[in-house]
Amino acid sequence: MNKKNIVLRPPIKTKYAYEKLRCCNKCHNYTALQEENCSICGKSALLPMLEVAKRAAKRSMGNDLLLTLLLTLLSIIFSPTLQWVIISAITGAVLLVVFVIVHRIALPSRTSIELSKIFVRDRDRIAEGLLRNLDTAVAQENEARSYELMREIAAIIHDDHIRKLQIILLQSLKLRKDMELELEPLLVKDFDPELADYIGELAKIKRELIKDHTFQYVIKYEAKISVMEHGDDILTGVAGAAVRMKRYVLAYADFISRHARKLPKDRFLRLYRIVMENPNLNWGALKAETVRVYEEKYQWDADFQQIKSRSNIHDV
Ligand SMILES: [Zn+2]
Repeated sequence: MNKKNIVLRPPIKTKYAYEKLRCCNKCHNYTALQEENCSICGKSALLPMLEVAKRAAKRSMGNDLLLTLLLTLLSIIFSPTLQWVIISAITGAVLLVVFVIVHRIALPSRTSIELSKIFVRDRDRIAEGLLRNLDTAVAQENEARSYELMREIAAIIHDDHIRKLQIILLQSLKLRKDMELELEPLLVKDFDPELADYIGELAKIKRELIKDHTFQYVIKYEAKISVMEHGDDILTGVAGAAVRMKRYVLAYADFISRHARKLPKDRFLRLYRIVMENPNLNWGALKAETVRVYEEKYQWDADFQQIKSRSNIHDV
């Protein structure tokens, strides 16, 4: 397959996923993309969700103030004597000041209450907006831009359909080590050969992205991956990524033992060192397999001698 040489831009980072969402103040359309004007009404009225919630919070608190003001006026009007007028006016004024202070303190918590209300109330509108966003992302001519837009949407909705689209787009690009790539958020529930290929590619250029969930995914579908065209390379690459940490070697010992023989020398050296330097841990079949591969392929290799002598000292 001819892969395109287009660089991916790093994702826009926000603390919370909802911060990616904006709402049009004019037509109530939601969007997760970074467009300047609303794609429905064309107005530049897109507000961040937090701003929308803050406005709603201020509005509902403003109603409380109006009510207090109204009650104060009524009690002044219906006061029988001048003394009552003064008492009502002072009470009203004090109440207003207290309300203003309390509201100022309560604004952040009222805002988050409004925010969750909006999410419940506008569920369908938000979903509609995100579907429109997805259409926009798919319609991009450039695969990298399309992927970038999808990544924004995927931060809000976690859905295998979108993940699969993202993986297909990623697989059409020439991936590079310096790109900000992701893996765990893209893991789908069922077996996906494109995803397996992507994992194999990351095992070569960015093995630090391969973590527990990926190991578990690969082990679950090991049989299916092994019959793929480059299935063995993928499995060996993932086993090579697992020898990164002692914890992974221990947790996925059986899987690694099935692929230890095909590991490149530097990865096998690492595995050999971990297993030999921790003779008391329960390696299961991995220990015997590591020794077997060592004796067959690396017994006379100078890089291995150092480790051997050190482990002998441990054994004594
Ligand atoms: Zn609009």
